[in-house]
Amino acid sequence: MKINHIGIAVKSLKEAVPIFEKIFKVKATEEEFVESQKVKVRKLHLENIEIELLEGTAEDSPITKFIEKRGEGIHHCSFEVDDIAGKLDELKEDGIKLINDKPQVGSDNMLIAFLHPKSTAGVLMELSQRQ
Ligand code: ZN
Repeated sequence: MKINHIGIAVKSLKEAVPIFEKIFKVKATEEEFVESQKVKVRKLHLENIEIELLEGTAEDSPITKFIEKRGEGIHHCSFEVDDIAGKLDELKEDGIKLINDKPQVGSDNMLIAFLHPKSTAGVLMELSQRQ
């Protein structure tokens, strides 16, 4: 397993992107809409990790709800696996609580699934698999 990206919840991509571009001196990717999460995404590809900036597009988007409760900040860490379905089955068997039993389609057409933060010390962990 290796880290793929850190997801950061922002109120406005328009405001956040130029700041992160200034810090890392790289240009963010074009805006992408991820229907399953109701978010707009722009990413910054760094040497060994991506930064995923997320803005909610609806009241019931997980990102909108997160910002309401906790404000802007780190939302999740994403770890890349080769077989996400198999890994989810394995974790379930080991008693880890999952938010998503089945992989969903995330940004860049990656398969993603979230583990429940109640099982992971309050850290929202995402598994991801390239297709
Ligand atoms: Zn993510």
